Amino acid sequence: MSPRSVFVTGGNRGIGLAVARAFAAQGDRVAVSYRTGESPEGFLGVQCDVTETDSLDAAFGKIEAEQGPVDVLVANAGIMRDKLTLAMSDEDFTGLLDTNLVGPFRCARRAIPGMLEKRWGRLLFISSFSGMLGSPGQANYAASKTGLTGLARSLARELGKRGITANVVAPGFIDTDMVATVSPRRRQEYLSMTALGRPGRPEEVANVVRFLAGQDASFVTGAFIPVSGGLGMGI
Ligand code: NDP
Repeated sequence: MSPRSVFVTGGNRGIGLAVARAFAAQGDRVAVSYRTGESPEGFLGVQCDVTETDSLDAAFGKIEAEQGPVDVLVANAGIMRDKLTLAMSDEDFTGLLDTNLVGPFRCARRAIPGMLEKRWGRLLFISSFSGMLGSPGQANYAASKTGLTGLARSLARELGKRGITANVVAPGFIDTDMVATVSPRRRQEYLSMTALGRPGRPEEVANVVRFLAGQDASFVTGAFIPVSGGLGMGI
């Protein structure tokens, strides 16, 4: 299957960029989406917002024209909008879900026809340990991340007989821009719950995503794989 056509949403920085680099390093053709700024060097950059179906459709069109239909989709783009539930507006909740849950659904729906044609595909959803544990101030975020498991497992059942797998990767506390604003006290709390006693690196998540997209993971579908240094283990 190599080189494959890979699409990583939110691949311009953080975990997404590490994932894009991991696929490129093994010779795959990799497209990354970016909303703002520039696309990183060495990838096919597609500007799009996962909350906008038309913008996603145009991005997929460009990828199909330049590197072929998407064989591997990594639905990674995500945001945090933390607030206590009593202070959380409808828009705080639904707006976040639109990016973190409906966005991956839109991407998968657009990618599936090409995968069905090849009778091969890999759908990967980047969830979070918050989706397993729940998290104070993150009712919107945790709900969106738990929702990805229901989405992936439904897709696994719908598409398994057509050679398409769907899996969820749940990172623990990983040093990226997203967690740069977490207070030192909260950061310490997360690290004290992490068996390895340190934050993860984006590359450590990327290695697992790459494995799940490869032939060695051909019998893995509907799985929820924590990459968390032991944060949340036993749940
Ligand atoms: P970053 O904040 O570093 O990157 C987020 C990425 O998502 C950016 O590329 C951003 O694009 C993109 N993005 C956000 N909203 C949209 C949108 N509407 N349309 C398209 N792209 C969008 O986050 P991380 O790399 O840390 O996180 C990546 C994923 O991993 C997220 O889903 C996050 O929830 C999850 N995760 C992260 C953890 C961590 O500790 N870091 C822990 C558990 C899960 P742009 O640059 O243009 O804004």
